[in-house]
Amino acid sequence: MNVQPIPTVSDRVNEIRKLTAEIVNREILPHENMIWADVRGGHNLTDDDRAEAKRLRANISNKVRQAGLWAPHLPTEYGGAGLDFLELAYMYEVLAYATGASSLFGVVAPNSGNGSVLVKYGTDEQKEKWLMPLIDGTLQSGFSMTEPDQPGSDPRSLRTTARREGDEWVINGHKWFTSNGLRADFFIVMCRTEEVDGGADRNSAMTQIIVPADTPGVNIVRGITVWGRPSDHVEIIYDDVRVPVDNALGERGTGHQAAQDRLGAGRVYHCMNSLGQMWRAFDLMVERSLTREVNGGLLETKQFIQGFIADSYIDMQAARLMTINCAEKMAAGQDARTDISAIKVFVPAAFHRVVDRAIQVWGAAGVSGDLPLSGMYQGARTLRLADGPDEVHRILMAKNVLAQYRKLDKGWDFGN
Ligand SMILES: Cc1cc2nc3c(=O)[nH]c(=O)nc-3n(C[C@H](O)[C@H](O)[C@H](O)COP(=O)(O)OP(=O)(O)OC[C@H]3O[C@@H](n4cnc5c(N)ncnc54)[C@H](O)[C@@H]3O)c2cc1C
Repeated sequence: MNVQPIPTVSDRVNEIRKLTAEIVNREILPHENMIWADVRGGHNLTDDDRAEAKRLRANISNKVRQAGLWAPHLPTEYGGAGLDFLELAYMYEVLAYATGASSLFGVVAPNSGNGSVLVKYGTDEQKEKWLMPLIDGTLQSGFSMTEPDQPGSDPRSLRTTARREGDEWVINGHKWFTSNGLRADFFIVMCRTEEVDGGADRNSAMTQIIVPADTPGVNIVRGITVWGRPSDHVEIIYDDVRVPVDNALGERGTGHQAAQDRLGAGRVYHCMNSLGQMWRAFDLMVERSLTREVNGGLLETKQFIQGFIADSYIDMQAARLMTINCAEKMAAGQDARTDISAIKVFVPAAFHRVVDRAIQVWGAAGVSGDLPLSGMYQGARTLRLADGPDEVHRILMAKNVLAQYRKLDKGWDFGN
């Protein structure tokens, strides 16, 4: 990955990009297929291969710690690298270039998001009991919000309830797509704790509650098959699950806000992640066109392929500049809601187009497990519905724009 200093960003951002790219280029990319061999399984895998994969992962994570980049999303007092929002965004772009690299840097969803929520909303006791073991890897977690019978794109419609009885919450509900659910030791569960009439203040009806996975009444129904493969995105029934009232995260009624905190910054991170993968797909496409000869000439000489390269460059640049502009506005404390929705619609679609062209250029190899393109393709498609589907973000953007125009003498200011 060709990462050179960017003249307009801080020295610290450039240093982080450089250090991250060194690990990606030297330690991860040359061993990419071997690093995950044991996790992916496959034929002809010997015990030595499995041991080698584990050794490689441990070795890389050690180098990440030495570079001071471990758990970049967490403050230093919790053992993280303490990066600020922009530093982290730029780092995620470089990290995403290599398949699975983020987990080697201690960033594993949904543990990373749960960790950040615990840092912000957790009490000292909750941090001691759940956050610290999450950081050192002795506990795993899941975030349990989406329900099969309610639209996830309208989270305020969720039906799972937590009723207070003495010193306990009693939780009843049906969730699905709780990621990491088969390994999780605890779940952060989005619950309705207040009944609100007539839609008044629907935002303060929810509370997030920590539920240990081994609590009686937590019934994991199945891991859901995703893109034709078994997954650890699980369906769960919470049946009269009792946990102490102290397991509520933050004040009663702050669940919706906590979810928004997680998703707002998360959408920029997802987009930077998509950009790193697009960058890789772009490199793979161009490199292949320079070496593959078909029908009497290299692919690079064919105008169809030149069109792919030009259109992918436009997609990459447009997506990148939009995302960075949005991140800079957020870092400066400006209202970036319209921009967050814009990148959430544009970037996954641009990512989808770039990967699609890269697959086409590589032919059969493009859909094989030898290259990361097929996984990227599925990821890009999934992103168009996860974390708020395209339609919801388009509606939000139109609402914000129209509201601005309804104010007398105020059009949209594209200069800021
Ligand atoms: C791989 C994966 C991992 C996930 N991990 C988690 C997790 O860890 N925890 C968790 O809680 N959830 C998770 N989810 C769930 C995800 O957040 C939801 O799928 C998402 O919020 C959409 O909700 P839904 O599936 O209920 O779709 P719905 O809300 O039913 O929407 C379906 C479709 O309806 C359309 N639509 C929705 N609203 C409107 C509108 N206003 N106008 C026009 N059209 C509209 C859109 O096309 C949308 O795609 C995950 C999902 C996937 C695929």
